[in-house]
Amino acid sequence: MKTIEQIAAELRGYDPQALSASQVSEFLASLVEPVAQTQTVGVFEGLDRILAEDVVSPINVPPHDNSAMDGFAFAGRLLQPGQALRLRVAGTAWAGSAWTGAVGAAECVKIMTGAVMPAGLDTVVPLEFVRSEGEDIVVPPDVVRPGDNRRLLGEDLMAGRPALLRGQALGPAALGLVASLGLPRVTVFRRLKVAYFSTGDEILSLGEAPREGAVYDSNRYTVFGLLSRMGIEVVDLGVIRDQPQALEAAFLRAASEADAIITSGGVSMGEADHTKAMMRQLGDVAFWRIAMRPGRPMAVGRIVHPGAGPRETARSAVLFGLPGNPVAVMVTFLAFVRPALRRMMGAIADEPVLLKARSAEALRKKPGRTEYQRGIVTRSPDGHLQVRTTGNQGSGVLRSMVEANGLIVLHHGQGNVAVGDEVDVMMFDGAV
Ligand code: AMP
Ligand code: MG
Repeated sequence: MKTIEQIAAELRGYDPQALSASQVSEFLASLVEPVAQTQTVGVFEGLDRILAEDVVSPINVPPHDNSAMDGFAFAGRLLQPGQALRLRVAGTAWAGSAWTGAVGAAECVKIMTGAVMPAGLDTVVPLEFVRSEGEDIVVPPDVVRPGDNRRLLGEDLMAGRPALLRGQALGPAALGLVASLGLPRVTVFRRLKVAYFSTGDEILSLGEAPREGAVYDSNRYTVFGLLSRMGIEVVDLGVIRDQPQALEAAFLRAASEADAIITSGGVSMGEADHTKAMMRQLGDVAFWRIAMRPGRPMAVGRIVHPGAGPRETARSAVLFGLPGNPVAVMVTFLAFVRPALRRMMGAIADEPVLLKARSAEALRKKPGRTEYQRGIVTRSPDGHLQVRTTGNQGSGVLRSMVEANGLIVLHHGQGNVAVGDEVDVMMFDGAV
């Protein structure tokens, strides 16, 4: 496990007071590692978990050549360009039981979708293409080519080859694929556990009466939602008062129970509170000013639970100390925390695919920082993707996240955007 100092020393141009978004990503990739423990679960339980082992196919899928259509199977070499083909029907091959009869020179076998191709036959003409003439059928000229409408043995999966890789997520398609191999169980990484709390004396819990200068806590709810959507087990530690004992107790409980801790608030420059002091006291933490908007301040590192025994073997949890502003929390989560947690979950790096959309408005942007504006992506009448902002981009305006379906990513070096310019968009894709 590398210390903050070691990671910082390896990072080119590290300056905690002016870190670029890409340096933050690089730093976090060195800070976190996948959980070690795995578990074997039934296929249904595997949904949205991360594979801890390759899934090697024990069988060929499909297990034999079979028909893709209801029709007539015959030897493709009998086809002559421009000529009809007359065939005697020798019998019927049903799905689920192989047809074992002999097939003569100018004969075919009526065949159902999924039925095993009779030996020596490689082509299927669909039922609706042929004409019956007594016991024969006639295949009109040029309606099929040799090999058509036949599914090949192993064309989906070959026995002995990995069908899915360690680190892949088991979505619905992968789940079905596991089942298609006849495998009742899968080995996955254990679920990640993340504790979170909100800090700040001006933060009200739900149920408390409103008071002058105070706001209701929204960050715990957005963080809860973001984590739950990732299939992470959560530990909600509530709103913690700006008081050393309360903060210490929350950090220690989180470090003893969870793999990671997410806090919001109390990390900006002018903070007169105890949050930063407690992070420093209990862990190995870096305090950053990131060249980004929203979400400039962030604290990152590890909180150590001393427990019994030497410090090297103490339990620790990765700390993501996010800013307090509700939009900044969500943006820093999506940009940095989510990829880091995915890595901890054991997932293969899966950077979100950025789409290109035409900006429907002019955007002011200063080079030298990364901006994440809340965007609404739609299709323009001429079929192109276009994006407009949600209006007020204040980092406290949570409504902007509700209205948006993605973030417009204005990269570090980028300047102003004119109407019609293409910009990158990170779609929420169900994460938000
Ligand atoms: P801070 O980072 O602590 O300076 O907070 C920045 C802004 O975010 C302030 O206006 C806070 O009131 C607000 N804020 C902090 N934490 C929360 C929270 N949990 N829910 C809603 N707003 C918050
Ligand atoms: Mg504060």
